[in-house]
Amino acid sequence: TDGLMQPRPLTVAHVLERAERLYAHKYVVTAEGRRLTYAEVAEHARRLATALDAHGVPAGARVGTFAGNNRRHLEVYLGVPAAKRVLHSINIRLSAEHLEYIVNHAEDDVVFVDRGLLPRIWPSAGRLPTVRHWVVMDDGTGGEIPSDPRILDYDELIAGAEPFTGSFEDAFTLADENLASGLCYTSGTTGPPKGVLYSHRSTVLHTLGTLAAGFVGLRESDVVLPIVPMFHANAWGLPYGAMMAGASLVLPGASAEPAHLLRLMAAERVTVAGAVPTVWTSLAPELRAYDLGAARVLLSGGSAVAPALSETYRAAIGLPITHSWGMTEISPTGVIGGTRTQHQDATEAEQVAVRAAQGQPLPLVNIRIADVETGRELPRDGRAVGEVQVAGPWVAGGYYRVDAPDSFTADGWLRTGDLATIDADGYLRLVDRIKDLIKSGGEWISSVELEGAIASHPDVVEVAVIGRPDPRWMERPVAYVALRAGGTATADELLAHITPMVAKWWLPDEFFFMTALPKTGTGKLSKTELREAARIA
Ligand code: ADP
Repeated sequence: TDGLMQPRPLTVAHVLERAERLYAHKYVVTAEGRRLTYAEVAEHARRLATALDAHGVPAGARVGTFAGNNRRHLEVYLGVPAAKRVLHSINIRLSAEHLEYIVNHAEDDVVFVDRGLLPRIWPSAGRLPTVRHWVVMDDGTGGEIPSDPRILDYDELIAGAEPFTGSFEDAFTLADENLASGLCYTSGTTGPPKGVLYSHRSTVLHTLGTLAAGFVGLRESDVVLPIVPMFHANAWGLPYGAMMAGASLVLPGASAEPAHLLRLMAAERVTVAGAVPTVWTSLAPELRAYDLGAARVLLSGGSAVAPALSETYRAAIGLPITHSWGMTEISPTGVIGGTRTQHQDATEAEQVAVRAAQGQPLPLVNIRIADVETGRELPRDGRAVGEVQVAGPWVAGGYYRVDAPDSFTADGWLRTGDLATIDADGYLRLVDRIKDLIKSGGEWISSVELEGAIASHPDVVEVAVIGRPDPRWMERPVAYVALRAGGTATADELLAHITPMVAKWWLPDEFFFMTALPKTGTGKLSKTELREAARIA
């Protein structure tokens, strides 16, 4: 017997209409400190929907964005899926080759682009035949706008369209909740980028996940700062989560300059912020110069946070960094770090260790670990190390227009390529990515653990450890290190520092000192680039 509840769909349209009904006076703060209410943002999204109709953008069409974290981008984030088109947020730091591959693969019909970013994408326009319109979002930055009939101005487009006055949500049937709402490509460090096609349903459930108490628990009193770009797995769901909860949003624009971000955090009394570890590292030296007393959750994801960095935050502002583990394929959040009641009486060192774990799965997310070779599930004993597999309603079940059978198990779970342990309480502790693990003489070395040890030296700002091909051992660890200004640590000193922390055969063969380590398009340390360097050297 079926239940007798209403067949109401889960849709991104609800996020928009809830914000305009309940939180009309809550606001978005722009990089320039301008405030726009959710009523205004929603009205622009309503006008955008009409404009998409007027320009013949069909339902289901992919609408690209090539933009930083700003309020026009947010309006597109809401208006496009509410009007049943698919929001394709494009990484602005891709190579021209990947950019063209992605836009052509997605067959974007329109691309919304920040004026300041136009020079990065416009040279490719001739090789992007599906894009009929380029809508320039004029943030006052950038140079001349080329004169071309395909180029439209965002503000004019909006001003020239009447707002859609009906209910977006009511235009969805129950079956429609499975329609695609968003598209993000993985970064393609191995093989071509692959598209993850989110549905309305998966997006709404993930949004509720960001509101779950005991995890990030976004709430009305929050002021949320997504430093993580809106093209990096939808800024980890923070924009939709904030609007669903009625929290205000601070959108920092294109600049990741530490003083700019810290000023915004202090001035707007930001309570929740999210960024990759390299950003948290860059803010660390300045923390004490700002009043960050309002902060309650600083989320870090995309790669592991060295425990020493988290403890630097705790010492400076009384708040450690919270791990958020996931990937584009998981919308992206699967696991959130932190302690539980059972840890209240634990020693400080034990609590540090718990916080260093990636954490526990959000409600509705299932995780398990499996033997990489046999696929057999491994025990949750905190010791067995296996590949993390994930199942849940906001986890990808396939990729957009490509087969990738190796990415899924026979029973449909996502294979993440991450190695971890899970303990009896369900805490996930990442050991390494399979591809980053260093294979030395038939044994494995965790680059994450070595990096954590090296990063605990006070002079070290950034560190990445990779396996260098070695005729005898297959691979040997070598470390790339950036020191703080005025730091004097030598290779011998770093070796002496980590010797008590790791096995002797883990000690890196060589240390290379750089002023800054190379970063990927999403701001993570780029091991691919370092590996190439190590091979040439
Ligand atoms: P990419 O593979 O291009 O980096 P994602 O941004 O989707 O794409 O990255 C997902 C990967 O990032 C995960 O598989 C994992 O290896 C790593 N990762 C994400 N969050 C964390 C975290 N909190 N701790 C350690 N590693 C993480």
